[in-house]
Amino acid sequence: SRQFFVGGNFKMNPNSVAEKKVLTTLLNQAELDSSVEVVVSPPSLYLIPLKEILRPEIKVAAQNCYFKDSGAFTGEISPPQLKDAGIPYVILGHSERRTLFHETSEIVAQKTKAALASGLSVILCIGETLEQRESEQTTAVCSAQLQAAVDILSEGDWSKIVIAYEPVWAIGTGKVATSKQAQDTHADIRAFLTKAVSPAVAAATRIIYGGSVNKGNCVELSKQPDVDGFLVGGASLKPEFVDIINATK
Ligand code: 13P
Repeated sequence: SRQFFVGGNFKMNPNSVAEKKVLTTLLNQAELDSSVEVVVSPPSLYLIPLKEILRPEIKVAAQNCYFKDSGAFTGEISPPQLKDAGIPYVILGHSERRTLFHETSEIVAQKTKAALASGLSVILCIGETLEQRESEQTTAVCSAQLQAAVDILSEGDWSKIVIAYEPVWAIGTGKVATSKQAQDTHADIRAFLTKAVSPAVAAATRIIYGGSVNKGNCVELSKQPDVDGFLVGGASLKPEFVDIINATK
């Protein structure tokens, strides 16, 4: 069975060392469900210091990386650099990267391939806009976003990928997907993996939900059979992140 996974995507927060200390103290002292895989993703500047002060069972993830190993790519960080720094995970294809930084599904797929080749695990984000949901393109959009990765990865690569389904309309809006919307879409994504990759990969791959997850909605969402965890934005900066980690307890 699939291990429940809860990620905290801090995005470009927090802004001070003091705030960061409050967060890490909270996580280090909280009683966390030990059966859950917990990963937090600060800005790259804080990856190493955070990793050094967090309790060892909490992992850290970069929020992005480039698809080249080294060279003249000002401002970028490479997968081998993350690996060398002891960073186990990287988030790729977040909707903010796709929208604000013009990352196509093909670029996200190349980044995924490069990250896996360096031995990193990947949290691969997909999701539709409100307009796409309203015109019933949700499954087609999510499938196309994943297809770009399917095209250049091998079956074995999928054991190190967690898929984060994050509907764009639910990110930072307070408009969480209903449990049925999440379950239906997660089931469609799993069905896509069955056909496009293999039934074994579909059964083993964790599909986590992201978009306005909070302590009030996480328990109900976590009960859906195809919801294998969460990627949490805003609430991962607050004490309620602990309640979300413990949603299945
Ligand atoms: P919010 O939880 O703030 O909606 O953000 C979700 C997200 O984008 C996580 O990657």
